[in-house]
Amino acid sequence: MGSLALIALAAVQISVQARAVEPGELVVLTIALPEHRDAVRVRAFDRDAAAFAVDDRRWRALVGIDLDVKPGAYLVTVEAGAGLMATTDLVVARHRFPTRRLTVDEGFVNPPPTLTDRITQEAALLGTTWQQVTPERLWSAPFVRPVPQPASSQFGTRSVFNGRPRGAHGGADFPSPAGTPIRAPNAGRVVIARDLYFTGNTVVIDHGLGIFSMLAHLSAMDVREGDRVEADAAIGRVGATGRVTGPHLHWAVRVNGARVDPLSVLALLGNEPSGR
Ligand SMILES: [Zn+2]
Repeated sequence: MGSLALIALAAVQISVQARAVEPGELVVLTIALPEHRDAVRVRAFDRDAAAFAVDDRRWRALVGIDLDVKPGAYLVTVEAGAGLMATTDLVVARHRFPTRRLTVDEGFVNPPPTLTDRITQEAALLGTTWQQVTPERLWSAPFVRPVPQPASSQFGTRSVFNGRPRGAHGGADFPSPAGTPIRAPNAGRVVIARDLYFTGNTVVIDHGLGIFSMLAHLSAMDVREGDRVEADAAIGRVGATGRVTGPHLHWAVRVNGARVDPLSVLALLGNEPSGR
């Protein structure tokens, strides 16, 4: 009889917080353990989720639902070692993203063959960057919006450039005047600060635990690769470099490889619960 009570007491509890359980959303799991553990491993969508202790018996895990995840139930597993484990289902609902039509320089829709190598190398650089998980959490403060302007909420939009369909828009656009100072959304290490063909002058900040911010189309960059930045630090200025129709800031977030709406990050990990 006593052992039954013990099993009930020893349960791991998982609570789920999200704006919506849909493609492109961040999901925050709070994991309550019956006793202290030094490590907790959380798996979702065939990846390790970013997990960190918040106090003696509570952990938090960040799960990104990639833009391309199909509706359905997905298993999340939590393993805290020596018999402590739990699972929960994330039931991902359908989300229909709008389509937008844009006109840009033809060189950004059909780049000349001389640029093929550059474009391939830059895509590979970004792809490997998202895979490089720094095991520590480099931030502690809430996430902040990088520019004061509201986003035009175009995350996930299917873009048609010059009449031809291209990939989904993996970030949020902030239509800010050219020259507006851009702030680091949170602390981390600058892993990319260079001119890329499609995103122009681009800064990527590694926040640790597989969380990255990309800030694109800058007119000027005030940081270098390898720099450590604090939340709200000035990193550059809004511009119109790369594939754009005019000056704006493009902010994209990766959570263990998944593309999520930065506004869902502001809503759940920031100081803006409305996430707009
Ligand atoms: Zn954009």
